[in-house]
Amino acid sequence: MKKLEQLYEGKAKKVFKTDDPNLYIVDYKDDATAFNGLKKGTIEGKGVINNRVSNHLMKMLEKNGIPTHLVEEISERETIVKKVTIIPLEVIVRNIAAGSLAKRLGMEEGTKLGHTVLEFCYKDDALGDPLVNEYHIYALGAATKEELDLIADYAFKINQLLSDYLKDLNIELIDYKIEFGKTPDGTIILADEISPDTCRFWDSVTGEKLDKDRFRRDLGNVEGAYHEIMKRLLGE
Ligand code: 5GP
Repeated sequence: MKKLEQLYEGKAKKVFKTDDPNLYIVDYKDDATAFNGLKKGTIEGKGVINNRVSNHLMKMLEKNGIPTHLVEEISERETIVKKVTIIPLEVIVRNIAAGSLAKRLGMEEGTKLGHTVLEFCYKDDALGDPLVNEYHIYALGAATKEELDLIADYAFKINQLLSDYLKDLNIELIDYKIEFGKTPDGTIILADEISPDTCRFWDSVTGEKLDKDRFRRDLGNVEGAYHEIMKRLLGE
């Protein structure tokens, strides 16, 4: 597999073309941003950890019937993935009130939600990724009803699988953001990443935050939290 020209550089990853028209290579960076790019920094080793953690979780999901973009991890920071067009939605699933939901609904962080919450944000940096509902999504042409129903179905299944898996490692899955993509033949698969950048992970016993909120909120020991997640998931 040959790594060809860079297709795209995002806040946390670069994507490269390959000599196979159906495959891309993702390269994870240590750069960290928050609040729509207003806060910038570096989390040493983050690229390696997110690459490995995301692949580990995607493998588990794939084994349990969720189609993902994962093909093969080829280095500490690089993974071959299926070529997709990203559906421009952040799909957010919440089990416990935190972050923007806690603020918007006036709930104390840590309150167990009476029902799992599914939210969609329209991926548009200039607009600050606004919260949208299904009708906005149809109006924008971001996804059809059939596609959105399938995405919602996957999102809830992923929630069950991830929550159960992490619970055994004393990690509580508070909330997370996932993204889906469409392959050239129109199949919808899980894409992007699942990592401490995109999930809230709290230690089940101490309640300690083991995710990017340590960076966003200047809580200190950011690298330590990312390492702890890798250690619990991969044993190193
Ligand atoms: P909130 O809406 O509370 O800020 O975020 C909810 C969940 O989705 C959190 O786990 C957060 O990490 C994730 N999330 C939401 N938007 C983004 C985003 O733009 N980038 C990343 N990395 N995660 C996000």
